[in-house]
Amino acid sequence: QAKKMGRNRFCWYKAEMEQQQLDKFNLMMRLRLAVKQQLFTLAYQPTYDLTTQSITGAEALLRWFDAELGQVPPDVFIPLAEETGLIQELGIFVLQKACAQAKSWQESGFSLNIAVNISAIQFKQGDLPAVVTKVLAETGLAPHALELELTESVLIEDRMLVKQQMEQLSVLGVRFAIDDFGTGYSNLGYLSQFNLNSLKIDRSFVARIAQNDKDLALVDGIIQLARSLGLDTVAEGVEDPQSLKLLLRAGCSCGQGYFWSKAVSVDEFSALL
Ligand code: C2E
Ligand code: MG
Ligand code: MG
Ligand code: MG
Repeated sequence: QAKKMGRNRFCWYKAEMEQQQLDKFNLMMRLRLAVKQQLFTLAYQPTYDLTTQSITGAEALLRWFDAELGQVPPDVFIPLAEETGLIQELGIFVLQKACAQAKSWQESGFSLNIAVNISAIQFKQGDLPAVVTKVLAETGLAPHALELELTESVLIEDRMLVKQQMEQLSVLGVRFAIDDFGTGYSNLGYLSQFNLNSLKIDRSFVARIAQNDKDLALVDGIIQLARSLGLDTVAEGVEDPQSLKLLLRAGCSCGQGYFWSKAVSVDEFSALL
């Protein structure tokens, strides 16, 4: 009986695994097609200065609507795009589109920065400084208006390769933020070794500061650390006024989250401005 059950279980796992492989294969095919047909758009989420409550910038976030699959979340397709190398092409699209949009908002009289997420793969070929230089020249956006968001893991993998390219970009005036700060890596040595401008505190900590004293203590500590290193702080995932009040009291400089706005279309963002 046990043997029979064991075998059934094995068959079930096997079938599930095969199904997963199929799903992933299908997703990859659709992704490749979507890149070819340029089916991606950008949504923009505003960042706010906590004291003045004014918009300081926009973060560009990729959106993919697939005819068969519907809206596919970036947490699903970005890892696949990285695995297949498609992130190179997609990454250039995001940079071009986001920088052109920021320039256009600036020309309408709004001073704001644009933040673009960069994955580790985009550093692999060593040509990110050249790509960014080209995009800035083509769009006419000032380098200091561009902030590249990297996760802690990017700084750990291929350390020298990344460091070198970040230095070249910093010389141009491009800024850097650590995204999802606090979730990646416990060795904080990198904070003093790379040219960074801001820390974005991960929303998993920010979400509970109004309910949980320990999370509040953590966020307080991160803000103190950032300030002593001369870095700006951006709290991610601010959803309620109590959290905002606590963040202000803790000396956090900026915030982003559903309390103000989710990521929206160009027209909706223009209306917010
Ligand atoms: P991220 O860079 O940390 O972006 C923040 C994510 O949190 C976004 O999800 C945003 O919509 C969501 N968010 C913002 N405010 C709130 C809030 O108050 N509450 C909650 N629950 N969520 C909030 P999204 O757009 O689904 O993106 C997920 C991740 O996908 C991003 O995390 C980023 O790591 C990645 N991603 C998105 N676009 C790109 C891209 O162009 N390139 C790369 N390499 N990665 C991207
Ligand atoms: Mg980000
Ligand atoms: Mg983040
Ligand atoms: Mg994230």
